Amino acid sequence: MTDLLEMPIHLNTKRRILHIDMDAFYAQIEMRDNPAYRTVPLVLAHDPRQTGGRGVVATANYLARELGVHSAMSAAEALKLAPHAVFVTPDFQKYRRVSQELHQIFKRYTQKIEPIAFDEAYLDITDISENHEMAVALAHELQQVIYDELGLTSSVGVSFNKFLAKLASEHNKPSGFTVINEEDIRPFLDELPIQDIRGVGKKTAEQMIQSGINTGADLYAVSQSDLANKFGKSGYIFYERIRGVDNRPVMWQRERKSLGKERTYGPFLDTEQAVLDELKSLSQQLTDTLIKARLHGKTLVLKLRDSEFNTETRRETMDDFLPNDSQEIYRIAQDIFEGLGGYQQPIRLLGLTMTNLAAMTFENIVLNLYE
Ligand SMILES: [Mg+2]
Repeated sequence: MTDLLEMPIHLNTKRRILHIDMDAFYAQIEMRDNPAYRTVPLVLAHDPRQTGGRGVVATANYLARELGVHSAMSAAEALKLAPHAVFVTPDFQKYRRVSQELHQIFKRYTQKIEPIAFDEAYLDITDISENHEMAVALAHELQQVIYDELGLTSSVGVSFNKFLAKLASEHNKPSGFTVINEEDIRPFLDELPIQDIRGVGKKTAEQMIQSGINTGADLYAVSQSDLANKFGKSGYIFYERIRGVDNRPVMWQRERKSLGKERTYGPFLDTEQAVLDELKSLSQQLTDTLIKARLHGKTLVLKLRDSEFNTETRRETMDDFLPNDSQEIYRIAQDIFEGLGGYQQPIRLLGLTMTNLAAMTFENIVLNLYE
């Protein structure tokens, strides 16, 4: 029997965090763009009558949901539940476009955006709201601007951390607006069925229910050491969450214009091979940095300075983002070097920079088939 140390916890109420979640995003976009879909159950899936019953539901509007249709069920099953529903094949390119428009709106307010899905993000607005009231007003405004400009409703949660903000946005959908203040923590969390507490997986929930922990209030009553004994590291997290504590930062990406690696050499690089070897090493370093920063770029810039202090830069721009692959970057660096005339005299400085950058966090979000 291990005796576990009690870890003190601290409820930080200083931050101001929003969770914004678009309501039935794909279905809402289709309804916006086609008024005929607004008054009927709408299912986003290939029509099972045309596919011989194959296909799954990506999402459905609220009228279809009332009939029991939900994401990830087979289209054939959806048709049984909602025989008069309209089936529309999802247009993911369109949803991606709208998602980008949504992010453009977020960016007018803050760069501190953590995208969770196409239609869902955390925003840290601590810096741009002097106090909690301002944060609430700003969240209201943002929800309204999204509606005015995109014609789409969203559900917004406001609190001082991600866990509570998400809980708030889920509280009242669609078109919800929920604020969780410190005094709201217990009423909110105590009533929650254990499986609705984020971070408690299906298996853990079963385990908890078996030991009589059915609600948030039950979980709150369990000591930290008991939780740690039973659930290990997660036990500590449950102990924190059920007290409304969540210190995870909003993982945002600072907008950068370029990212580069530069080196000066003494002694100078005095053979072509030495230059190419260094370019290879710089390509590797640049690639590693790009991957770490979750960025990719379209333009590679080579800078070189020779022993006479002549400096030259030359760039190559691609139509599309370059893969973060050191061999590919090296190949282009080599091309640029050749374009500059190759090795002519000793080199004292080499630099390799990627510009025209974009965050990969957003680009790389896998299209979620199911909302
Ligand atoms: Mg959503």
